[in-house]
Order: sequence, then structure tokens, then C-alpha cells
Amino acid sequence: MGTLIKNGTIVTALDEYRGDVRLAGGKIVELGPMLEANGDTIVDASGQYVFPGGLDPHVHMELPFMGTVSADDFETGTAAGLAGGTTSIIDFVIPARNEDLMEALAAWHDKAAKSASDYAFHMAVTWWGDQTAEWMRRCVQEEGIPSFKTFMAYRGAIGVDDPELIHIMNTARELGALTTVHAEHGDMVVDLQDRLMAEGRNTPKDHALSRPAPLEGEATSRAIMLARMTKEPLYVVHVTCQQAAAAIIEARSRGQNVMGETCPQYLLLDDSVYDKPNFEGAAYVMSPPIRPRGHQEPLWAALASGALQVVATDHCPFNQVGQKDMGKDDFRKIPNGAAGIEHRLALMYTYGVLAGRLSLQQFVDVTSTRAAKIFGLYPQKGSITVGADADLVVWDPAATGKISASTHHHKCDRNIFEGFETKGAPSHVFSNGMLRYSGGNLMAERGAGRYLKRSL
Ligand SMILES: [Zn+2]
Repeated sequence: MGTLIKNGTIVTALDEYRGDVRLAGGKIVELGPMLEANGDTIVDASGQYVFPGGLDPHVHMELPFMGTVSADDFETGTAAGLAGGTTSIIDFVIPARNEDLMEALAAWHDKAAKSASDYAFHMAVTWWGDQTAEWMRRCVQEEGIPSFKTFMAYRGAIGVDDPELIHIMNTARELGALTTVHAEHGDMVVDLQDRLMAEGRNTPKDHALSRPAPLEGEATSRAIMLARMTKEPLYVVHVTCQQAAAAIIEARSRGQNVMGETCPQYLLLDDSVYDKPNFEGAAYVMSPPIRPRGHQEPLWAALASGALQVVATDHCPFNQVGQKDMGKDDFRKIPNGAAGIEHRLALMYTYGVLAGRLSLQQFVDVTSTRAAKIFGLYPQKGSITVGADADLVVWDPAATGKISASTHHHKCDRNIFEGFETKGAPSHVFSNGMLRYSGGNLMAERGAGRYLKRSL
């Protein structure tokens, strides 16, 4: 006894067709026109789309960071994802400098066991020591983690320097793994932060001024050069600016395997958010920061042309009260990050598809399918094919919404898209064949999510 989704318009990264989908045992078991019910529960999807469940490959649930812990834990964060049509996440194991990577991984498994949706991990390589290469090998060959995160910012904490980055890229290449990078010139950030603070400039706006776009552009170019020399593929996380997008476009035009991700906040907001009074700009403090007007259109263009392939969220919420306010007198102490997992699909549908910037197929590709392919989860995730996991979103294109912290499922007292109108919303969300959201009711179950071992 399963579920039969009838009369929907099935949309994948390639196709769009009318048909029915049968789910049973957590899998998609049959596709076709006019399937018989056979005792299945029927979901009428007339006038609606059926999408593969969203995959957000960049989130940070209950991350210990900057003296506090991100506000959504694995249960509440994945539940918020389910409410918005995201049925899988990839979180980042982030060991402290000098911490054993495998011990950090065990700690992440403990935290993530309560996830309400399926989850996987990237491993951040935050330092280089005698055992690092062996730990990386175990990640790839034993733990199902074939992608590594590196930070060119946050030097002295979780950031790496160029020699360390070269070691990581060389090792990843030998293992057939993918290197991902947070690209900002960390040393220059520190110098600019110190100079601003010395001048008494300590506000959220100064956070943005301490991390200007050229620093991201330079680091992106440098990471691309190092990847080129080490012959390692590269995935640049949260691309925010024209300079970084241009570097990726140039590399791809030479045939180099460089990929890039951006996030809704970099596509839809500009740095005027930092001018909000009463420290409200702190809600938008993240790294890299929201960019000045003029950077958003090049990102949309790069997404439309395929130069950027993925839209993730970097979901990492901190409450204004009790967390962000730690940096009231010093922007360097404002925890970096914001919530986003719940509204990624609605924002990309409204401001991407309905605005004519992305086709429906591109929408599915950037929110689900491409990340599944890049990170080794396809076709289990990101596809509507027989045998794939029954992670599906029935999408009502007529639904309307208005984003607000007062109604969202994020465990956070602010929403950086407060007041944004959306069109289109999930009417039903299935995770492994189980109905987890419908008609405004969230039926997330603590611990229902499974760990996804990946391989490239
Ligand atoms: Zn991140």
C-alpha cells in the first residue's frame, strides 16, 4: 500500500510531462499515464507540478561557531527544510584546528541522528598534519564523504593557508574527491577589520566593508589557479560577486572543471540591508557579506548560462537576541550566518522562474538535480525515476505567501527575507515515501532521516 500522485505535471532537470507517480517502500516504483490506484492513497496533483525533492548542499545545523551554536539543530533545521520542499541536506563537519577529523565526524553523526530528513556530510579540512591524508582517505573510501571543504578566510581558526590548500587539493585528486572552497583573502579581511575598529567603526555595515568583493574575487582566482596546477576539480561555495563569477566563467571557458554555487540572499538582497537602524543589520551579517547593487544581475546571468550550477542556502541561523547582540559594540563578534533553508524553493521559483530568469528545468536543476550529480547522490536523489528515493514535492503554482519570522519554521527570531512575497509553494512534500508536509501541516519526525553515504 503506497501513494499514487495523480495528474500532475512532472518536471525534472530535462523534461516536463503529464503523468502519475507511484511511491512504495520509500521508493518511486512506477511512472506513467493513468496508473491504477490498487489501494494506494491518492494525491490529486491536477494543476500542480511534481518536482524531485530539493537538495541543499550547504547548511550548518547546530554549528559551534564564534562562541555560540547556530540556532537550528538537525531536527528543527531539516524540518524547516521539509516545510519548504527540501528533502535532503549536506552539512559540513568542521573540526577545530588540530582536532582529529574522525573524532569530529563521530560528533557530527551523534548530532545529526535526530534529523527529520536525509542528510550527508562534507568534511572540512581545517589544518594539515601527519595524519590528514589518511583521514581524508578514510572519509572517501570508508565514510561516504568524497568532498572536502576548505576555508581561505578565518585564518588561525578553521582557515587554511596556501601550502595547506595545495596539500589538500593534491590529496583529494589522488582520492578522486572534490575540493570545495570558501574564497576570501583572510589576511586582508583581518587587516581591514583592525583598521575599521581602530577608527571606531564597529557596526554591521562595517562588517561588509571589511570583506569587499575584490577579496573574494582574488581568492576565487587563486583557488582556481591552485586547482588548475594540482589538476583537481573545484567547487566554489557561496559565490556572491561579479569578480568571483567572472573568474569561474574564465576558467570554464578554458575547459577547467570549476563549478560554483550561489545563494538566494546574494541574488535577491543588496548591502542597503546593513543600513537598517537599531542593529537590525546584524541579522544580515554573514561571510561573504551581502554585496552592493550591481552584483546580483551577474550572478543571475551566471546561473542562467550554467557558469554557476547550484543554489544552496548556507543556512546557519543565529538569533538577534542572545546571539547576534554579542557583537553590539564590535562587528567582529557578531555570529556570521542567517536562516534560509525553508524558502529556497519558493524564492527561486518566484524570482527565478516567474521572473523569466530560469526555466522550470533549470529551477529543478539548480535546487536539486545538479547538486545530487556533483556530490554523488544521483539518481538516488534529484531525479524522478523508478528506483529513486521517493523524495517528491507537489508544487502548487497558485499558492501565495509572504515570508516572515513570525510564521517560518526556522528556529530563529529574524528572517532576512522578511516581507518578501512568494508565489508557488509545496502542497505535499514526501521524504522516503512518507508525507511530511501538506496543507500547511508539518509532520516531521525526529530521527526519520538517514545518513547518505556518497561516492563520486
Ligand atoms: Zn557555510
